Amino acid sequence: MDFAFDARTEELRTKLLAFMDEHVHPAEKIADEQRALLASPWDTPQVVEDLKAEARKQGLWNLFLPDAEYGAGLTNLQYAPLAEITGRSPQLAPTALNCAAPDTGNMEVLFQFGTEEQKKQWLEPLLAGEIRSAFAMTEPEVASSDATNIETRIVRDGEDYVINGRKWYISGAMNPDCRIFIVMGKTATADGPDGADIRRQQSMILVPRDTPGLDVRRAMQVYGYEDHYHGGHAEVVFTDVRVPASNLIGEEGGGFAIAQARLGPGRIHHCMRLIGMAERAIELMCRRAVSRTAFGKPLAQQGVVQNWIADARVTVEQLRLLVLKTAWLMDTVGNRGAHTEIQAIKIATPRAVVDILDRAVQLHGAGGVSQDFPLAELWAAARTLRLADGPDEVHQRSLARREIKRYV
Ligand SMILES: Cc1cc2nc3c(=O)[nH]c(=O)nc-3n(C[C@H](O)[C@H](O)[C@H](O)COP(=O)(O)OP(=O)(O)OC[C@H]3O[C@@H](n4cnc5c(N)ncnc54)[C@H](O)[C@@H]3O)c2cc1C
Repeated sequence: MDFAFDARTEELRTKLLAFMDEHVHPAEKIADEQRALLASPWDTPQVVEDLKAEARKQGLWNLFLPDAEYGAGLTNLQYAPLAEITGRSPQLAPTALNCAAPDTGNMEVLFQFGTEEQKKQWLEPLLAGEIRSAFAMTEPEVASSDATNIETRIVRDGEDYVINGRKWYISGAMNPDCRIFIVMGKTATADGPDGADIRRQQSMILVPRDTPGLDVRRAMQVYGYEDHYHGGHAEVVFTDVRVPASNLIGEEGGGFAIAQARLGPGRIHHCMRLIGMAERAIELMCRRAVSRTAFGKPLAQQGVVQNWIADARVTVEQLRLLVLKTAWLMDTVGNRGAHTEIQAIKIATPRAVVDILDRAVQLHGAGGVSQDFPLAELWAAARTLRLADGPDEVHQRSLARREIKRYV
């Protein structure tokens, strides 16, 4: 077994590390200052656009998309260590490289299932970083971790579909650059004339932001944060929203299958970035521990602090190996073949990284929960990933079922 990265990965890692040091980390403070002066906090600070232009110029663009014509043509194994590096600055770096969720998942859907016309109209500007997008599935009224519960209706009416429903936690939707929504809803019901199977009732449809009846109502908070850098997490109401039938993605009833395909890569990307967040936490822990003295000696000389740092290092090494194994399986046997591993890392990584960030907060004392260090915000972001893209328990349930099935 060879654990070394190949030449292309090494080359891109070197380039990306330099880009982070020279451009991204210095921009963190500037972006906050610029945002404070914007007319709306949801607008994009100029420095983010500058980072995008620089990343594109350097060939650090669309690295997430394995297709060589539309994306950078990297395998998941090649992309994993690069996504990890972007996780060290999760507010800026993924966007700078056009590798941020939910755009990445939405671009994958359009790439895999979109018609030529849909690709031209929406995929191309997304790949060029000219617009942003949102994925609207979750609803406040129903347990949305079970996608079969979704109640939004998408009803055929002549040459159109008409959409009615209420969604929330729709990431990215507060950003005015978010021009297109992929909406999941029901085109059929079990008790309707067609008596559709529970997994064939949902469909996905493209809804442009300026369609009458689409109301981006408010920004939901995340532990009190508004998450400006990711375009917030909006409540969105659809009232008699009418779009042409040609906006349907794939076929009627195909939404569930597309959602499954969309979430595989998205889940591993989150885990890759989480490892980068954990690395940043370890670095901050070490810097703090050597620079702060309590009860006559540096914090770094306290056994308990050494245990935290050692445990964090051990955990990160374990997680990284599992992420890389999963990426390799996705490349070699496909997302379906890597199902167990994708679920395993989605369960293991957010949980463990939340723990590491929690210790880093503790080590920083009051500073750890303050706005002067990135730890509190990183903690909140990592914690939400125990819910977003499927709660831990849902993945545990399905992984356990597959495991148990081998014995019945
Ligand atoms: C920051 C953030 C961003 C998000 N972005 C998006 C987005 O862009 N688009 C979008 O559509 N959604 C988004 N979501 C929503 C997210 O996908 C859902 O919150 C998630 O799928 C869970 O659905 P729910 O909130 O309805 O919880 P519910 O389905 O009500 O589940 C609540 C809890 O019940 C328990 N539970 C559920 N099923 C089981 C089970 N089988 N076994 C044991 N326990 C179980 C779990 O503990 C679970 O956390 C986002 C959420 C957050 C927090």
